[in-house]
Parts: sequence; C-alpha cells; structure tokens
Amino acid sequence: MLPPIVTTIADVRAAVDAARAAQKPIAFVPTMGALHEGHAALVRAAREFVVVSIFVNPTQFGPKEDFAKYPRTIEADQKLCGEAGASLIFAPGVEEMYPTNSVTFADVAKLGDHLCGAARPGHFRGVCTVVLKLFNIVRPDVAHFGAKDYQQARIIAQMVRDLNVPVEVRVEPTVREADGLALSSRNRYLSTDERTVAPRIYQMLQATRTRAGAGEIDAARLESALAADLATIPGARVDYARVVDAETLQPLARLDRPAVAAVAVFLGTTRLIDNLVLA
Ligand code: AMP
Repeated sequence: MLPPIVTTIADVRAAVDAARAAQKPIAFVPTMGALHEGHAALVRAAREFVVVSIFVNPTQFGPKEDFAKYPRTIEADQKLCGEAGASLIFAPGVEEMYPTNSVTFADVAKLGDHLCGAARPGHFRGVCTVVLKLFNIVRPDVAHFGAKDYQQARIIAQMVRDLNVPVEVRVEPTVREADGLALSSRNRYLSTDERTVAPRIYQMLQATRTRAGAGEIDAARLESALAADLATIPGARVDYARVVDAETLQPLARLDRPAVAAVAVFLGTTRLIDNLVLA
C-alpha cells in the first residue's frame, strides 16, 4: 500500500496524534529522499506507526555543494516506503520548514569539528537543526539512523542527550552492495569506471581492521596506511582517512579503547563516505 504524503506540519501532527491516540508507538526515519535499500532497512526496523520524512535540507549543504542537483525521486520513494512498511511520508517544502526570518540553529560542539565537519563547515549545524525541528514536529518515541553516517548518528545521539529530547535514537547497520560499496543516494552520480573501483574503499577499511586485529595499535600508522591505500584507487582524492575514538570522535594516539576508521573520498566530483568500527 502506498503511504500518504503530507506536506504540512499541521497534517503530520494530526496523523501522529491520531496514531498515538490509538496507542501506537511512533517511529521516525528522517531522510533526504532518493531512497534505497539502506533507507528501507531503517523503515523495516521501525515499529509501529512509521513516519518517513523526505526533505532535502538546504541548511546542511555548503554553497558549492550539490543541493540543487541532489536527486529528487518522490514517486519511487513513496513506493519503496510502502514496500518497507511506512505509515506516512512527510515531505515539506523549504518554506514550511524554514519560514522567512528563521534564525535559530542547533549546534553540537566538538563532535562536529572533525571528519565531515572539518570538510563541510556548517554541515552538522544544518543537520542538527533540521533533525531537532523534525523531532519537534513528529514527536516520535524512537528515531532510526544509519551507521553509514557514523558521525551524524553520534552527533544526534549527543544532541538528544544534551538537550533532553524525549526520543530514543537507534542506529542500524550499514547496508552494502554485494561487492561491499555502502549504498548511498550519491552512488548514482558515479561513472561506470568510478563504480567499478568504489568498492575498494570498503576493502581498505577492512584491511585497516585486519591490521588493528594483527596488533597495530598506533592510530597514526593505521591512518597513513589507510590513506596510502585509498590514494591507489584510480581517480580518487582522499578528503580524510582517520582512526578516531568511536565515542567522542576525537583523535586517538593508541587503540586502547573502541575506535572507528572513517573516510571520505572523492571519486571524480562525487564524495563518498564510509566507516568501520575497529573491534
Ligand atoms: P540520507 O537520505 O542520506 O540523509 O540518509 C537518511 C538516513 O539513512 C540516515 O540515517 C543515513 O545514515 C541512513 N542511510 C543512508 N545510507 C545508508 C546505508 N547504506 N545503510 C544504512 N543506513 C543508511
């Protein structure tokens, strides 16, 4: 069944209020659309009245980024949401989310300084602001995020904790293609040649985990080996290759606590991110 699409805050609130009155827990999956199996897995993990938002959020894109050309595929998205069991789609326009004179932002210090935050100034401020607004609009009991955007999930969990937002944040595993490439709405930008080499990013993260498992505990050495590996991918430009504290995302000297290897790599003009927790 195709879930209905509502575009106003009043309509989504009315539908959620009705579901809550029927004793249904409210689950929420925020997305930017161009949905794929990674998003579907979040929807399938969600119970019971499942709201999916589809909103390409302008405040998380830099001036030179792909906001205007970000794929918008609402009909296919609605179908995928229906197959995955979503109850309702909230697809507001920019004016509904950011009326003129919106001047308030949510910002999580520190966690957003590194990795994608360093490469994309203001990105996480935009993400936190829109997610907090969506939480206040939908008022879910549980919200589902993907481990693919590891830093984003950590930052949102921190915001929820610090600002006492009454929602449970759950993080679901990264869904990958059979060859290991993490599913992403941006994969469709890849040329045939870029798509062929893209799975090597995940293989190199796995090699980092193997090195750590074999006893390499020096984070800087792991990082330089990873960066050197990534640089061998034809047409790749490494944005960052880091091994950081899995909880705080701060730089690490030694792997004496849980760590995550996180990378961002440009293949042509497409920026791909991936990560792997080092056990
Ligand atoms: P996006 O539409 O890219 O903003 O992503 C919306 C949500 O889907 C975020 O919580 C992402 O982490 C999650 N997501 C995107 N790709 C994947 C994937 N390959 N596996 C799991 N979750 C994903």
